[in-house]
This record gives sequence, C-alpha cells and structure tokens, in this order.
Amino acid sequence: NLYRIISFMSILIIVEHNNNKVNSNIFNLITCAKKLNYDLAEINFFIAGFNISNDILSQIKTGNIYIADNENYKNFLAEEIDDLIVNFIKSKNFTHVLLPASTFGKNLAPRLAAKLDVNQLSDVTEIISNDTFVRPIYAGNAFATCIIKDSVKLLTIRSTAFDHYQYDTKAISTSSQIIKLDAIKSKNISKFIKEDTSKTDRPDLSQAKIVVSGGRGLQSKENFKLIEQLAETLGAAVGATRAAVDAGYVSNDYQVGQTGKIVAPDLYIAIGISGAMQHLAGIKDSKIIVAINTDPEAPIMQIADYALEGDLFNVIPELCVEIEKLKN
Ligand code: FAD
Repeated sequence: NLYRIISFMSILIIVEHNNNKVNSNIFNLITCAKKLNYDLAEINFFIAGFNISNDILSQIKTGNIYIADNENYKNFLAEEIDDLIVNFIKSKNFTHVLLPASTFGKNLAPRLAAKLDVNQLSDVTEIISNDTFVRPIYAGNAFATCIIKDSVKLLTIRSTAFDHYQYDTKAISTSSQIIKLDAIKSKNISKFIKEDTSKTDRPDLSQAKIVVSGGRGLQSKENFKLIEQLAETLGAAVGATRAAVDAGYVSNDYQVGQTGKIVAPDLYIAIGISGAMQHLAGIKDSKIIVAINTDPEAPIMQIADYALEGDLFNVIPELCVEIEKLKN
C-alpha cells in the first residue's frame, strides 16, 4: 500500500450495464482490482448511459462512482463515449483502467488505447504485480506474461478467470460517492440502428453453472431443440459451436469459443461437437466436461472428463427421462 501511495496509483473500472442494472462481470473486475491491492473504497467506477437507474448505483455500493447521464450515451456507442472517458482518465491520472473482456469492453478498449497512445492488454487472466499480467495466446494454448511500462495500464479482464466479489457488508465502512460528469458534444460519426437480443429465461451463458452445447452433429435447427430440452431439464444455459451457428441452428450470441463467449461452468456438456481447438479455447476452464459423440476418436472425447460414445438422438431423450426421475 505504501508503494501505491508513493507511486500515485489509482484505478478506474468502466462499468458495463444496460441502464437498469450492472452486468455481473463488474464483481469479477472488483476482485481483479483487489488483486492489484486496491481497497474497495479506492476504486473509481465510470458509468455512461441514459436514465441510469438508481439500482445501478446501489449495486456498486462502494468507491467513487462517476456518472455521465445523457441521451447520446443511451446505447453505449464507443464512438460517443471514448473522448469523454479519455479526457476523464487524463484529468485524474488513472494508472489502471479495467474493462470486461466482453463485447462491450472489446469494442471500447481499443479506441481508448489508441487515443491515450498506450498499449491495450486483452483478456487478462492473472495479475502478477502492478505492471505484470498474464493473458492467453494462440487460442489459449500458451500464456504470455506481459510487463506494461505505459503510465496507463489499460486492460480487458476475462471475467471467468476472477471470482465474483462478494461484499462483506460489515467491512464496507464508506458508502459510495456519486459524482456527475458533464456530457460532451456528440461527434455523430456512428448511429445506433437496432438491437436484436435473444429472449430467454435461462441463465446467462457466460455466468451459468451448467452449460449444454450443441454442434454440427445436431444436423438442423429443429433438432437443436433437443439441446434446449436437456438444458431446460438441468436449468442450464445453451451454447453452440461456430459450425452450428453458421448453419443457422441458433443465433451467434450462443457461440462458445475463441471468437464467441468464454465459459467456465461447473459442468459443460458438449453434444455432437468434435472439439476443434477454437471451440476448446472457450471451455478450457470448465470444471467438468462431458462429451457425447458417435466418434470415440473426436478430440473432445480425449479431453472430456466423461466421454459417452453414442448417438445423441438416442442419448439426449434417455438422459432427460433419467434426470427427471432423479428430480422426483
Ligand atoms: P464438426 O467439427 O463437424 O463436429 C461435429 C461432431 O458431431 C463430430 O465429432 C461428429 O462425430 C459428431 N456427431 C455427428 N453426428 C452425431 C450424432 N448423431 N450423435 C453424436 N455425435 C454426432 N468454433 C467454435 O465452436 N467457436 C469459435 O469461437 C470458433 N472460432 C473460430 C475462429 C477461427 C479463426 C476459425 C478458423 C475457426 C473457428 N471455429 C470456432 C470453428 C472450428 O474450427 C470448428 O470448425 C467448429 O468448432 C466445429 O464445430 P462442430 O464441432 O459443431 O462441428
């Protein structure tokens, strides 16, 4: 802590939210800030949005919360909020700026890095020290330890690599302080057209404890309903391979892997999935992997904790019946 005071370290977390509630990845970023030795009360949060709900403020509970509430920020366009954040970072001399390695963070961080003229380190999975971080490379087949000498360490954080921070309510001595920031003039260089989101009651894919994923082995959109049925039975989230997405079985927000979502559930069930390197890159941190495949030589069968050789069209209905029996 003394080192931090001498070296004037300070941290900013850019909050992902939907104007109503925070994305739970913020709690993984708080754990990350703690690993950088910041106290809870020292963490600064930046929120840009429109008609930002009070629930967001009460969910954060600690530190300084800087808010820019303006219609221009309603849809979080990186082109609208980048200058505001860059000016803010410069004015406060933040030394660490953390964003989630989600679509939101990956969209915004490169613009901030370019405008600040610093490196961006993506998908950080481990904090070694104040300037040394670990990130996966080659689709997770190797890990690079990187030292950042820039004055601002701009990091996107892989939330599955850090625990969800649980507030100890007794330990929070200071309540959060809310500071309003003035919006800046719109650049009008990008426009929000529309958002298509999949409406589901199932758990969020990136945070779910159980994920059931289907691949090309399902053969059609109609058959993919079998995956949804098993997920329903288990209270699980649904995932898919890029091949399944490209074939139109499900929309691309279901894609798991190097160019999709990174998941780390307690249980990952891969059905009709061969286990290509790019898919495995997204599931490596799962605690238990179960594979169901007709081909015993498929790569997924080699890395799975439980490999079941069988035809998914027989196995899934049988599994659903057996799980229902266990529930009753
Ligand atoms: P396949 O490889 O065709 O496997 C289908 C499997 O189903 C086979 O193993 C087969 O034995 C089995 N099967 C068939 N019938 C049955 C049955 N009746 N019962 C049981 N099993 C059956 N892929 C991703 O998933 N995520 C990514 O993020 C991703 N990013 C990529 C990025 C790049 C730059 C590139 C080049 C590729 C990327 N890919 C990604 C694609 C990846 O390389 C594979 O092509 C893809 O993962 C294969 O999907 P699949 O396993 O569904 O299909």
